[in-house]
Amino acid sequence: MKYYDKLIFELSQNGRCGYSLPECGWDETATDISACLRRESDTRLPEVSEPDVVRHYTNLSNMNFGVDTGFYPLGSCTMKYNPKINEEVASMPGFACLHPLQPESTAQGALQLYHDLSKALSAITGMAEFSLNPFAGAHGELTGLMIMRQYHLQRGDVGRTRVIVPDSAHGTNPASAAVCGLEVVVVKSKPDGTIDTEELASLLDETIAGIMMTNPNTLGLFETEILKIAEMVHGCGGLLYYDGANFNPLLGKVRPGDMGFDILHLNLHKTFSTPHGGGGPGSGPVGVASRLAEYLPYPRVERDDDGCYHIVGSDKSAGRVSGFMGNFTVLMKAYAYILSLGKQNIKKAGALATLNANYIKESLKDCYKLPVDKLCKHEFVFDGLADKSTGVTTLDIAKRLLDYGFHAPTIYFPLLFHQSIMIEPTETESKETLDAFVSVMRKIAEEAKTEPEVLRDAPHNTPVRRLDETTAAKHPILTYFEL
Ligand SMILES: *Cc1c(COP(=O)(O)O)cnc(C)c1O
Repeated sequence: MKYYDKLIFELSQNGRCGYSLPECGWDETATDISACLRRESDTRLPEVSEPDVVRHYTNLSNMNFGVDTGFYPLGSCTMKYNPKINEEVASMPGFACLHPLQPESTAQGALQLYHDLSKALSAITGMAEFSLNPFAGAHGELTGLMIMRQYHLQRGDVGRTRVIVPDSAHGTNPASAAVCGLEVVVVKSKPDGTIDTEELASLLDETIAGIMMTNPNTLGLFETEILKIAEMVHGCGGLLYYDGANFNPLLGKVRPGDMGFDILHLNLHKTFSTPHGGGGPGSGPVGVASRLAEYLPYPRVERDDDGCYHIVGSDKSAGRVSGFMGNFTVLMKAYAYILSLGKQNIKKAGALATLNANYIKESLKDCYKLPVDKLCKHEFVFDGLADKSTGVTTLDIAKRLLDYGFHAPTIYFPLLFHQSIMIEPTETESKETLDAFVSVMRKIAEEAKTEPEVLRDAPHNTPVRRLDETTAAKHPILTYFEL
């Protein structure tokens, strides 16, 4: 252990101090705080010098891993590089210092950005109108399902209480449906990973509010029968919801609106380059076809004939889903990202994401098991090593990758296979980075044969070794002193 790996409390020396403040001149007994609420002794804070504090936090930050430190092929998460200009734009004082309650006449620039970003997202997705209020993908799903329910209720069609979700769906889909008070009906995937339309037909009746789909789905496969599925679901009176959290591969290529989808959400903090992974801040805008626009949440922004922007709502709105108007700085980053790429380069982003995923898949499919060997979109799934005889698991592979300086892919999701490894490289990675990753993955497959014990003990070079994940999650030790 290096000296500065010590906890800051262990560096503490009685009486050492890292600041100088003037004497506090007031009488400590003459306060309004009642005696029972006052401290009787000083808090136990580490007593350290300024360099100790700086080294402590700098060293801690170096233990972290992020897109700015290395390759991060986490499937279903789109860990693309986030251009730094977005941060500069998001911190422009004219926007950053706005108050959410200030009169709309004094916030016209912000309202214009809101309006123009909605229009750009409409152009990209083929949806007529957007709400930028939801704070995350799952929040967008809930909002979209509230709109779906509101649509049926307003037509007096009160018996539509069930929503169809494929077995390959992201876990948030059934969770959002349940939170919205809808019953989840699962439709199975065929062996090729796409929806079984025969089974779907058997599920469709007047109790179905709609279907939630991801396309390309969680295996990175495009649902080629989508037009037929749309016809079937609309034919029974239901709506189609599109989970556009991972919109990357479709950027500038195809639009869910043209495939027959009625409602969708996007994750701006995946596809539109806001850093994420630490739990926020995010943004999950919801787009709808024109006949559903009046059900969008309140408030929204409209432009009048004089070019002024106004905050508006509708009587039929599904309600309010956020305190004010959403995560404005995330909206600014998405806007900066879309404008800095422009129409032509946005198209390239999707194509490159798809090319990069297929490049890794083809380079590794002789040593890792590829359950569905088809052209993928932005991501794909291996089912562990091709050679299962060594007993080396997906967890071992993921941990060993850390030793080689790469973040692990998503593992044990989707649940369709026992040893899922879900890889999503994104378009921002160079061929050299992809080659380095491929060569490490091949090396690990080789190690599985020659020295499997090294994999079972991995990682070896990280600040902490393999954790007991259950204990770490259930009984985390978060304080230095026992309280
Ligand atoms: C990430 C993701 C979500 C959820 O998004 P959050 O912002 O984490 O709530 C939903 N669906 C899919 C397919 C995703 O990848």
